[in-house]
Amino acid sequence: MEKERSSLGEFSLSDSGESSKPLEGVFHSHLEERVRPYIDLIDSLRLIGVEEDLALPSIAVIGDQSSGKSSVLEALSGVALPRGSGIVTRCPLMLKLKKIRGGVQWRAAITYEEEYIEFDDPSLVEGHVKDAQKTLAGDGVGICDELITLEIMSPEVCDLTLIDLPGIARVPVYGQPEDIGDQIKSLIRTYIEKDQTINLVVVPCNVDIATTEALKMAQEVDPEGKRTLAILTKPDLIDKGTEKNVLDIVKNQVIPLSKGYIIVKCRGQKQIDEKISLEEATRVERDFFKRHEYFKCLLNEEKATVQCLATKLTQDLVDHIKKSLPLLSEQIKKQLWDLRKELSQCEAGPPLDPQKRKYFFIAVMMKFNEKINRLSCGEAGNEDNLFVQLRSEFKKWKDHLDSTKSTFHETVQTLMKEYDLKYRGRELPGFCDYNVFETLVQALVIQLKGPAMDTLRVIRDTIQKQFSDVSKACFNNYPFLTCVATNKIDNIQSKQEAKVEQRILEQFEMEQLVYTQDGIYFKTLNETQPAVDGQKASENNCAGLDSRSKYPEMLKAYYEIVVQRLADQVPMLIRYFMLKESAQLLCSEMLGLLDGANVTEVLREESEVSRHRINMQNRADRLTIAQEKLSTFF
Ligand code: GDP
Ligand code: MG
Repeated sequence: MEKERSSLGEFSLSDSGESSKPLEGVFHSHLEERVRPYIDLIDSLRLIGVEEDLALPSIAVIGDQSSGKSSVLEALSGVALPRGSGIVTRCPLMLKLKKIRGGVQWRAAITYEEEYIEFDDPSLVEGHVKDAQKTLAGDGVGICDELITLEIMSPEVCDLTLIDLPGIARVPVYGQPEDIGDQIKSLIRTYIEKDQTINLVVVPCNVDIATTEALKMAQEVDPEGKRTLAILTKPDLIDKGTEKNVLDIVKNQVIPLSKGYIIVKCRGQKQIDEKISLEEATRVERDFFKRHEYFKCLLNEEKATVQCLATKLTQDLVDHIKKSLPLLSEQIKKQLWDLRKELSQCEAGPPLDPQKRKYFFIAVMMKFNEKINRLSCGEAGNEDNLFVQLRSEFKKWKDHLDSTKSTFHETVQTLMKEYDLKYRGRELPGFCDYNVFETLVQALVIQLKGPAMDTLRVIRDTIQKQFSDVSKACFNNYPFLTCVATNKIDNIQSKQEAKVEQRILEQFEMEQLVYTQDGIYFKTLNETQPAVDGQKASENNCAGLDSRSKYPEMLKAYYEIVVQRLADQVPMLIRYFMLKESAQLLCSEMLGLLDGANVTEVLREESEVSRHRINMQNRADRLTIAQEKLSTFF
């Protein structure tokens, strides 16, 4: 075992350990210099995780079950992969082949889920891949779309990255779900439909090629065959007499594909059982084609052998990469632009350091408070200035009061009739006393209570909405804070509304008292009753007896005074309690959040937001690196 490992480490990739010469000529070294930078570029982009953002050029290997996919990959990589009948490849396997300079040991690493295992013995590949599949897809015969990455570094491989996919099965075997065929196909489709993928379709020579499911799928996603390369396997198992047909296919005369066909002969089961090494198999393959009556011409046309396939694939991949670069660069540019825009929109979030976080939140709160204060002071700047809205509501209130004056006469008449009907005693109509005056005033005033309360409610809604808008704008990325603020605003507004409601009720209670020192009243009184000896009426010398007959004018004058009192008093109560005091309460309650345990609670809730922002930042960072890397290729 030890001996085998060291010999493997040097160059041999044989299963049996019997071979000792490197696979010279399999991979043309002159290609290396031209090819390597491109493959390295894509690998480095993959390494920084760009594949999460956009598709990178790659080669996907697809084919029906047992068409020879693993055999082809094995011949290319020089490593024995799990093989057998039935479903063997149950998860996508990304095979990264990296040529390293001579004298370096064969090395490999397998990555899946959280697992990363390095090893230096090629014979362990099969076991590791099987373990990985078991972990991802479970025991048995199910499939899974989690990717396994197998990296192989060796002087004997070509620079290629290939993805081996589960073979297309038509009939589920025992233990497989009914729709296994569809599951596999949809998994395959996610890889082959990308423009960045070269589809390597493996088809055995001994079947009807035109009806192969894999070729059909490749044609569906790439009708012109621009990125489809077909590989014909098992030429040694061909039905006698069908060689000419196969030859026509390889010559691209039957189902034309712009990348064409390559025919290869891998080790059959018998040769594996006989432990024929891969190197030996390469020689056997060449001999086979050389001697083949129909296929020997294909050697010169470079349409046969694994060697030829390796060269062509590498070249194709590089051409493909070159072609994809402008698109890649374009996509990166666009994504970066979008990301930066989104990042600029979500303001700098909380720092990770707890102390700094506290300062950060103080700053956020201060900003919020400042905005609320500006709003409550009616400072211009915001689009719908709160005071404009308030004024318009207060004006409606005033307009309503004024409108009651125009219907005053009818109202008084109605009230008088009512009084007449219900309360008049022995006196003749028209002889009213102060009680009647008072009752009339009280009845008139009480009618204004409902509209006053309506004004209060409308304004509460207006203010509450504007406060909430401020909290949404300030705590845009902080759902928890927005929620806390919204609740506080609602609570405070409810409390304040109840307070104002109480004050308005009290005001109306007081209005029942009927009182004024207002000049208008006395002016009216004096105008309706000539002054006795130049004396003017005042509250103290009381209106003369005759004024009783002037009571409609006096009533009107007094009502005017009440209206003026209420026109100011109601808005002032509302403005003071609903806006000024509310804003103060809200600001101090929000600052109170910064005390003790509350801060951590608030911060914990925000981590989701900062995670999103960090993710975006990471994406932007890696795309920036990718952009720099790409720019050297133009
Ligand atoms: P997969 O299911 O597509 O991965 O197919 P495998 O690579 O496991 O091959 C299926 C069977 O066909 C295996 O027993 C291989 O040894 C055999 N096989 C593959 N290629 C050839 C070939 O060119 N000639 C012969 N005779 N057998 C082959
Ligand atoms: Mg296989």
